[in-house]
Amino acid sequence: MEPVDVAIVGGGAAGLMAAIWAGRTTPGASIVCLDGAERLGAKILIAGGGRCNVTHDVVDERAFAGASPNAVRKVLRRFDVPETVAFFAACGVTLKREDTGKLFPTTDRARTVLDALVGAARAAGAVLRHPWRVETIARSDERLVVAGPAGTIAARHVVLATGGRSVPKTGSDGHGYTLARALGHSVTTTFPALVPLTLPDGHFLRALSGVAADVTLVLRSATGKRRLALSGSLLCTHKGLSGPVVLDMSRHWRAAIAEDPSVQLVVDWLPALSPEKVDELLLAPGSAGAARRLHAHLPERLARALCEHAGVDGSGPAPALPRAARRALVDAATALVLPITGDRGFAYAEVTAGGVPLTEIRLETMASRVTPGLHLCGEICDVDGRIGGYNFQWAWASGWVAGTSVGAAVGNAGR
Ligand SMILES: Cc1cc2nc3c(=O)[nH]c(=O)nc-3n(C[C@H](O)[C@H](O)[C@H](O)COP(=O)(O)OP(=O)(O)OC[C@H]3O[C@@H](n4cnc5c(N)ncnc54)[C@H](O)[C@@H]3O)c2cc1C
Repeated sequence: MEPVDVAIVGGGAAGLMAAIWAGRTTPGASIVCLDGAERLGAKILIAGGGRCNVTHDVVDERAFAGASPNAVRKVLRRFDVPETVAFFAACGVTLKREDTGKLFPTTDRARTVLDALVGAARAAGAVLRHPWRVETIARSDERLVVAGPAGTIAARHVVLATGGRSVPKTGSDGHGYTLARALGHSVTTTFPALVPLTLPDGHFLRALSGVAADVTLVLRSATGKRRLALSGSLLCTHKGLSGPVVLDMSRHWRAAIAEDPSVQLVVDWLPALSPEKVDELLLAPGSAGAARRLHAHLPERLARALCEHAGVDGSGPAPALPRAARRALVDAATALVLPITGDRGFAYAEVTAGGVPLTEIRLETMASRVTPGLHLCGEICDVDGRIGGYNFQWAWASGWVAGTSVGAAVGNAGR
């Protein structure tokens, strides 16, 4: 059995960050970072469409769900966006801000980010081993025994950074939750977040695959009460809906229907216009048809499809439409109920909602309140962020807290 000071389980964003800072905090500590995947950092490489959206210009707790905002803030403020930017710059990765506020490497290549993290972890003295899948972790005397097909390691400290279960082929298949449970932690219900939503076969929006529009999505109860409204770009797909606003809404929709199955998701295709203004637009004098009038604000295919869906002749002069037909079109354009059938599951989800509750973790160190010697960081925690670099910022911040505190604990105990 190989003795080490620190075993980090999972060499993704959070695990690499923890490895770097454990090593930098206590040079000379024996640190291994174990990852079950053949290819290290697969998720970093696919992030942001291969460009890796490292963080966002402004990150605060309001961009996250799962744990309480207070708890999330305690961790985020320990390693904030300016520190993230400085950290990457020191590793040779300069970041650029795009108009959306997202920060990407100036190279536009996720590989730059991964190589920098791997290089920094090695330079800090961490040994990266993969494929090295961890099957079990058990307490034995003063150590945690980490075991898998590749061997057995007796660690004084373990950092559990196994991620969630989104895109399991990258290596994050949810086994980390089993490990956490075996060490006494609870795990809240997990479900896909930042995931495309599906519409029934034959729904008219599925035929508009590729069409995008800036919309407002509203989650409302059957009584019409607004629970949440989010604005942004929506993309029609051959299975249903995607695009940033849909991805951001997906976890809220899923959580809401679990609580109240009568909850509805409604799209306002013309958020800049009130229903009254849309009515006026249709009534304005002139021979232009309804489809052409809507096309002034929407993609043509969508404008025509909305007319068809509302049972309206979109080509005849719009002011001549019967009142009921006009009403139906205004409804379809400003409050179309989306009969969502589900989501595309973990294979298509960018992140996992749910996980180990932050109430079971000391947030100043990311140490387990349940198992001495254990720390947790990254997506395994019950924290999921919006699209835009927030999930990585959580990984960097929680990984930094776990790494520096584990490093300090090794240093304080004397090796
Ligand atoms: C397609 C896609 C695009 C994304 N784009 C962005 C983006 O641009 N910006 C952003 O902020 N977020 C993005 N995310 C989310 C972000 O990638 C994750 O939130 C982040 O990677 C989580 O980091 P982590 O280290 O906690 O987990 P992961 O990155 O999932 O790493 C966990 C590691 O643990 C290893 N592991 C798991 N179980 C075991 C085990 N039993 N033994 C050994 N090793 C194990 C896995 O192989 C994996 O390498 C994206 C996600 C996806 C899927």
